[in-house]
Amino acid sequence: MKLYNIKDHSEVVSFSQAVQQGLGRGQGLFFPDALPQFDDMDALLAMPLVERSTEILSALIGEELPKSHVRELVSEAFNFDAPLKQVGEHIHALELFHGPTLAFKDFGGRFMAQSIAAVSDGKKITILTATSGDTGAAVAHAFYGIDNIDVVILYPKGKISPLQEKLFCTLGGNIHTVAINGDFDDCQSLVKQAFDDNELRQTIGLNSANSINISRLMAQICYYFEAVAQVPKHKRDQLVMAVPSGNFGNLTAGLLAKAMGLPIKRFIAGTNANDTVPRYLQSGQWAPHQTVATLSNAMDVSQPNNWPRIEELFRRQQWPLAELASGWADDEETAESLRALAQAGYLCEPHGAIAYRLLEQQLEDGEEGIFLCTAHPAKFKESVDAILEKDIPLPGPLAKHAQMALLSSEQDADFTALRAYLLRLANA
Ligand SMILES: *Cc1c(COP(=O)(O)O)cnc(C)c1O
Repeated sequence: MKLYNIKDHSEVVSFSQAVQQGLGRGQGLFFPDALPQFDDMDALLAMPLVERSTEILSALIGEELPKSHVRELVSEAFNFDAPLKQVGEHIHALELFHGPTLAFKDFGGRFMAQSIAAVSDGKKITILTATSGDTGAAVAHAFYGIDNIDVVILYPKGKISPLQEKLFCTLGGNIHTVAINGDFDDCQSLVKQAFDDNELRQTIGLNSANSINISRLMAQICYYFEAVAQVPKHKRDQLVMAVPSGNFGNLTAGLLAKAMGLPIKRFIAGTNANDTVPRYLQSGQWAPHQTVATLSNAMDVSQPNNWPRIEELFRRQQWPLAELASGWADDEETAESLRALAQAGYLCEPHGAIAYRLLEQQLEDGEEGIFLCTAHPAKFKESVDAILEKDIPLPGPLAKHAQMALLSSEQDADFTALRAYLLRLANA
């Protein structure tokens, strides 16, 4: 597999390099040079998830990893389902939250962890990341128990929900969580200082495992195939997918699946009040506003970092950007749609509800719609309970972690202290 840097096409890397580096020169994103096509799409869609995903990922990765090895990574990573549930006559929910941290980030995170381990040849690696909540949990669970990889997760002390903290700070083993006396920006700044420190980076084999790693997107391509596979054959030519979007990685993966021949007629990109992309698609002006806090807080992003990949793909495929539908919903509208879904007998959460709302508004006659449910309702229990005036139960994995003791250590927002901690850990 060859990938090039979108900002500098002369930088070309292999799958292994892209996975290990994350970003290219000048913070450029990597993008696949060629997208495989499949001769017999029906046969591909008829396969079970792990087998089909092995075919897709193996076609993308090429000779760098033998297919049998890809199959091992995939079966470790995708050990849960992505069921499609009927919600309305022509509307279906794709449930992407049946992984260990109850959010779709488990797909990308788990495959990325497997990929990083696979291309590192047993060298010791330290993953360092900052989280304001959900990504930390997905990274922690994805890397838990993988040999020769230490994971250090920084988070702002007292500034994430107690349940979120329980979900990733109770694992132990190779997962090290540090509560920083500061805010999320302090955590991010510490991570940045660590990556700017060449000596430290070399010594401890630092890797960011961040949201722009291409292996995440590759994994996410697979659940779009899984969604279409669950639609009866005669309805597969009019499919519309509505994707709740923050950094737009999820949508990028869907568009890549379409470019690889998956029959999806069109996409609808849904955001909350952080509506940079819908405004851009309307006006042609890229004009991010200050990020605002919303009910769908995993999408509180005003400068989506995967957007350049989407523009690159439309350019390469010669698709007009006008074919990408979009829209946004404020918190009141989000709550209204969450209630409408509950009325229809489907329990959702704010991110999925936004996608449902836009799908419902924009689906045309003859089309079949799928909206992506990116998190389990219980992950957003506080707002879901308040909006629906209910007390929804915690599912098994969350309830289990809620009972466990926190294992985090605590540090001031001081790089010297963090550096010493990382070196101690790597030498342990
Ligand atoms: C991360 C996240 C999103 C946004 O996904 P992007 O790929 O960043 O667009 C949506 N919903 C939930 C629950 C998330 O955690």
